[in-house]
Amino acid sequence: MRVSRFPLFTSKETPADAEIISHQLMLRAGLIEKLGAGLYTWQPLGLRVMRRVEQVVREEMDAIGALEMLMPAVQPAELWHESGRWSVYGPELLRLTDRHERDFCIGPTHEEVITDYLRRELRSYRQLPLSYYQIQTKFRDEIRPRFGVMRAREFVMKDAYSFHLDEASLQATYEAMRNAYERIFARLGLRFRAVGADSGAIGGSVSEEFMVLADSGEDEIASCNHCRYAANTETASSRPAPGPATKPQPAEQHTTPGARSVEAQCQALGLRPDQVVKSVVVMADGEPAVLFIAGDDELNDVKAARALEADELRMAEPAEAEQATGAPVGFIGPVDLPPGLTVRVDHRAADLGNFSSGAGRSDHHWINLNWERDTPRPPVADLRMVKAGESCPACDEGQLEIHRGIEVGHIFQLGTKYSEAMEATVLDEQGTPQPLIMGCYGIGVSRVVAAAIEQNHDDKGIVWPAPLAPFEVALISIGADRDPAVAEAAERTYAALGEAGWSVLWDDRGARPGVKFADMELIGIPHRVVIGARRLEAGTVEYRPRDAERSEDLPLDQLSAALA
Ligand code: ATP
Ligand code: MG
Ligand code: MG
Ligand code: MG
Repeated sequence: MRVSRFPLFTSKETPADAEIISHQLMLRAGLIEKLGAGLYTWQPLGLRVMRRVEQVVREEMDAIGALEMLMPAVQPAELWHESGRWSVYGPELLRLTDRHERDFCIGPTHEEVITDYLRRELRSYRQLPLSYYQIQTKFRDEIRPRFGVMRAREFVMKDAYSFHLDEASLQATYEAMRNAYERIFARLGLRFRAVGADSGAIGGSVSEEFMVLADSGEDEIASCNHCRYAANTETASSRPAPGPATKPQPAEQHTTPGARSVEAQCQALGLRPDQVVKSVVVMADGEPAVLFIAGDDELNDVKAARALEADELRMAEPAEAEQATGAPVGFIGPVDLPPGLTVRVDHRAADLGNFSSGAGRSDHHWINLNWERDTPRPPVADLRMVKAGESCPACDEGQLEIHRGIEVGHIFQLGTKYSEAMEATVLDEQGTPQPLIMGCYGIGVSRVVAAAIEQNHDDKGIVWPAPLAPFEVALISIGADRDPAVAEAAERTYAALGEAGWSVLWDDRGARPGVKFADMELIGIPHRVVIGARRLEAGTVEYRPRDAERSEDLPLDQLSAALA
């Protein structure tokens, strides 16, 4: 590609609203352009990077036998009524009505659609197990879109779903997916950890997140310096992270008498539901209690988790709260909360189990509705907050270290949550209908691009890991407009590298060398080759890898071999 035909819309200015480096560099390098809050156009340069992520994801999904398909972005509300999520998903779900007054949503995820697909199409249990995936645009009306494509409203996800007749088959596919995820993120050149996680609004019993390690990450993870234990601190599990040999723990049967909707509980407390960003379960006087953490958009998961480690919580008038909910309810948060008592927390008693994930009301609705339906709740007593420096709950020998991470992937064992609700069954060998057992597996394809930049940049711009680079070689010709020999050599080199299989971006503009160098450094192309008159006379070109301090001279006729 020639820059004269592939314009680089780079910029020196750092956009004021871009807080983190990947957001700044993606805008400055001309990878993306903002259309509206959480809405981004992928410019040709940026799209080339995202396509490379997709390619690796496709190859690894295909390799484990997952079948690629494409489902509609717009989904009929009926399916969400069937699964029960229409009323519980909250404002992150973008709902719309068509000209016939029928309700739809723009899919934030596709469990309902895929379950509906397979309940119609599956003929026999002998066709199982089956895995499907798609790479598709999702919409989530995030309460606080930020960090560019990192937390966008419209974003690209690879979502996969697997279907099984029995638990063992789900375990096997979950393992295969987990291994595929390890290969994907390793191939993309990312430093990452797989961590035990909370299943949030998607549901299910066991889940793991793939975290790209970066200081700007919104998640906090604890990992053992001795064994392989790693968990999202918001999971707050004292149990080992689910790994290959770990089976889902049977849940204790707990129901909360008189539990009410979040709205009712908030009303009783004088809180707006949208002030509630998180709910957790604490042990209070030996009894499980609901703790609502109120706040504004600023109070994200991590702050909430930190706050829970504090010694003091602002509590509602306990009698009032208990009367409203049938269980002790408290809340912590910024000062604009209704006046209440300040109580000290007994950390021994306040072992915390955190069942919601992500800021936003959706999770609370989900949790509370589950309770209203008397569904089992995880054993509260088994859960506690993970602290740093604390000894590892898995091996007892190592200590936990805290890192920050960006969630780029999340895999779940869903069990029969959707198939039971939506009556997706298959006849087993005995002719008895069995609900399909399911797993689901997501990768934030567009987020991966930003996460990679968080890990790979310097003061001049992006330093792409080779597998992600939009072009492999930046070819810069200097003085080609004045010197026909340079023009001819550049033309010849461009063609030769292309024939040797390199993807080359040739800066054939008449711009000053400094401008060309700065642009190529900003957009992060791994190899830079400069053709100028002086070296050309000696039959050499100047070569510099993007991550190197110095340039070296390479013989022009051996260039392709030298780059490899
Ligand atoms: P988060 O905790 O960051 O809100 P999530 O847990 O809600 O993510 P999942 O439902 O697990 O997300 O979706 C699968 C993947 O989709 C995530 O691991 C993440 O990489 C990506 N993703 C989720 N929300 C966004 C978003 N708003 N913008 C970009 N990518 C996202
Ligand atoms: Mg999450
Ligand atoms: Mg989320
Ligand atoms: Mg997740």
